[in-house]
Amino acid sequence: MAHPNPVISCEFFPPVDADALQRLQQTAERLQAIKPEYFSVTYGAGGTTQERTLATVFTLQEHSRIPVAPHLTCIGSTRSGVREILAHYQQRGINRLVALRGDLPSGTQSIGELRYANELVEFIRTSTGDYFHIEVAAYPEFHPQADSPERDLQHFQRKIQAGANAAITQYFFNADGYFRFLDDCQRLSIEIPIVPGIMPITNFRQLARFSDRCGAEIPRWLRQRLEHFGDDRAALCAFGEDVISALCQRLLEHGAPGLHFYSMNRADPTLAICRNLGLSA
Ligand code: FAD
Repeated sequence: MAHPNPVISCEFFPPVDADALQRLQQTAERLQAIKPEYFSVTYGAGGTTQERTLATVFTLQEHSRIPVAPHLTCIGSTRSGVREILAHYQQRGINRLVALRGDLPSGTQSIGELRYANELVEFIRTSTGDYFHIEVAAYPEFHPQADSPERDLQHFQRKIQAGANAAITQYFFNADGYFRFLDDCQRLSIEIPIVPGIMPITNFRQLARFSDRCGAEIPRWLRQRLEHFGDDRAALCAFGEDVISALCQRLLEHGAPGLHFYSMNRADPTLAICRNLGLSA
């Protein structure tokens, strides 16, 4: 049954310079039309720095009414470093986090004092009690480094036992995999909301690169269609909007608690999908 009040959120990455940050503020302003519960800002993904995440979080917080949730990763970090960042966020009234392991930048060997996301969640809870609402990552198509689907699910469960409040999935194009994942979670009495991560389709090469890296499967029928558009960007975007709107519709109709958009710092693709779903103001 469709969720009566789906929770919408949008993810950004920290922009490279002041101009891009200004453009992101405009994007965030436009995205307020879909009444997001929060905006999230990635950390460390694609070689970005902690400083840029903090600067982006505080700028968005200053200029928008929507709460901002910084991502925080543990790989390569120390407990004292994480404690310091948590204190910064508490001082600024930020009370929502996305807690992740992160990936080791190539060439780096140090795993850090906290090795997995469950250890990070546990550390946040020990240091700050119930102050933060914590989201963690979930993988309906399983994490690329997982030993087995069962072990991956057990590791997911450990993050919830450590104190996570909700989860956001890696993006996917196969709704059945997500529903099966929800069934598996239900069997383990995992009851937190598991919000599907949604990747709007606007650029095939970029999507293929990301998907190879993070283990998201592009089904053959979709890959073939997208490849076929070649340089016809407008046709690809129109087709992508149609496919992703239909995916979201199906997810919401079958009980997904919300949608988390990997916005890639752009407003139009997410707004168009939400308009098709009747979710924009
Ligand atoms: P974990 O939950 O720790 O799992 C990682 C792997 O280790 C899995 O294979 C799991 O099965 C296994 N595992 C977990 N716990 C244990 C254990 N105790 N013992 C043995 N094995 C274990 N990356 C960034 O760098 N910055 C970001 O801002 C960012 N944002 C993201 C947002 C979302 C919504 C998602 C889905 C991913 C994001 N990522 C980000 C990518 C993420 O960091 C990578 O996918 C990373 O490889 C795994 O992170 P995790 O938190 O899921 O790790």
